[in-house]
Amino acid sequence: MTVNSGDKNNWRDKYLNALDEQEQLEKQFASQQELLRSALVRVSIAADGQDETLDQIMAKLREQLRGKMSATEFTGTLAQLESAALAFEQHREQATQEIRQALADTTKGLLNFKLSRGVKKELNEYLKQLPQRSKKVRLYPALLQQLAIIQQQALGEIEQPKTGLLNKILGTKASAAADDLSGSGEEERNVSLAPMLDSRPAPQLVQHHQLTEEHSAQIMRVLNQFFTSLENESAIQTKVELMRRKLEQGVSLETLVPLLDSVRDLVMEAYLAANQAFATYLKNVNLELAEIYMLLGGAVKNTQDERAASRKLQDDVMREMNDLEATAASATDINQLKDTVKSQLGNIRQVIDHYQQTDRAQQELAEQLQTLGAKIKTMEVEAEKNRTILETHRQKALHDPLTELPNREAYNERASAEVQRWQRYGRPLTIAIFDIDHFKRINDTYGHQAGDRVIKVIGRSIAKRLREVDFFCRYGGEEFVALMPETDGATALAVLEAVRDAIANAAFNYKDQPMSITMSVGLSEFKTNDTLESAFERADQALYGAKSAGRNRCQQA
Ligand code: GH3
Ligand code: MG
Ligand code: MG
Repeated sequence: MTVNSGDKNNWRDKYLNALDEQEQLEKQFASQQELLRSALVRVSIAADGQDETLDQIMAKLREQLRGKMSATEFTGTLAQLESAALAFEQHREQATQEIRQALADTTKGLLNFKLSRGVKKELNEYLKQLPQRSKKVRLYPALLQQLAIIQQQALGEIEQPKTGLLNKILGTKASAAADDLSGSGEEERNVSLAPMLDSRPAPQLVQHHQLTEEHSAQIMRVLNQFFTSLENESAIQTKVELMRRKLEQGVSLETLVPLLDSVRDLVMEAYLAANQAFATYLKNVNLELAEIYMLLGGAVKNTQDERAASRKLQDDVMREMNDLEATAASATDINQLKDTVKSQLGNIRQVIDHYQQTDRAQQELAEQLQTLGAKIKTMEVEAEKNRTILETHRQKALHDPLTELPNREAYNERASAEVQRWQRYGRPLTIAIFDIDHFKRINDTYGHQAGDRVIKVIGRSIAKRLREVDFFCRYGGEEFVALMPETDGATALAVLEAVRDAIANAAFNYKDQPMSITMSVGLSEFKTNDTLESAFERADQALYGAKSAGRNRCQQA
């Protein structure tokens, strides 16, 4: 079948175009993957202390893991992730604003009192700097400490030191939400410690300096309960313990104010510590997730086995993710959540490690096989080269350089094969020995080189006149041997007679002088029980007979 060359080019172009398109698509996919990965990392960094965002990321990750998204959905997910990060930023901004407001209210509340110019100045300065300084969460402890110091100074100047936080405890019925910790009777007070930062002074101040026993007990009860709630915060555990011991020594009006200030600082510290720990923890979680995603991205390959392994990995990771989500949804305590999520992530990592190990083992095997394959190929090439060299050598070794006919070695090889065949099938086989007549004379008359040339010309002339299946070689000197398979003596004789005749009648010239060259031939058909040697010997005898009978003749034995 012939192929039109135009068609061939057409198909080649189509094939190359398809390859180009494929390459483009792969590039596009790779860049989208990279985009999603970096978006995940960005969200994870923005997700300080926000477990809803964690849930969101996980949901997105799950979608990604399912791998059913089209390119458009994929881009949509990226947009969603971006807006999730944005929403979180807004939330954080709101929280910062609330804290700023609380600090401002506390400061303004203090300014309501009759205070020295110095303290007022400090309070005003503080208020002025607040918007700028409260932008960073990490500046809160310093801000609070400064306020505590100014407040301490202010309270020292106020005759009735029952402002700020104290006022919250010893406030009026109307001041705060009632809770079951409220006391009873004439001195009944509403007690509320939260929010700690909301320390706006109540309109009505308590007029006496001494705390009643009932007040004292009530304050201690509230604070004790509060400490219990703070005990779980590992960052401030020792400080809470110290505070509790201090409280056990009793509360007086003098010790209460600094005690309450310390409690407020402690709460702030706990809040910040928890916030910081959780933020760090979440960052780690999200980094792990990003890493997992990257691993998955890199692990998904095209061969069927790998696809199956990758699907299994995705299923395993999905299951762990679902567990993780369920835990996150039902968790009530941050430490419990942390522990569980940590162990779940551990499980996911194990799954991936296992996958990677299998993958690595397969990869190593594939690499080894590849190396092996390459080695085999090199060896094959080497072997082929050697084979060619050997063949060349063999050809050289089996041929006579002068006539380029097979030589004595080739004769030995071929003769034994022909004899075996003759023995096995019993088909006729004839051997013939040729010898140029009076060759010495030729050498003597025309020189050795002319003699060589005669050997070459005669040898080729005989070979040309024999059949393809006949084996013909230069046996040595000016002697040749033919092995004629499927040929009985009579037939061989006829053929050889014709050859001899042709040579004898050919017009050989040497330096424009005609040259008469004849040859004698002895032949013999293989007979039962013959060996190569016995048949050869008979043929040689026949040759001798031909020479004796006058040369230029064939004799059969
Ligand atoms: P006969 O008719 O009895 O065969 O006489 P002849 O002279 O051919 O005698 P014979 O076969 O005994 O001698 C062969 C001679 O051929 C001997 C040697 O000098 C010569 N000869 C053998 N090999 C070569 C060769 O390769 N080149 C040349 N130029 N001469 C050779
Ligand atoms: Mg001879
Ligand atoms: Mg001779």
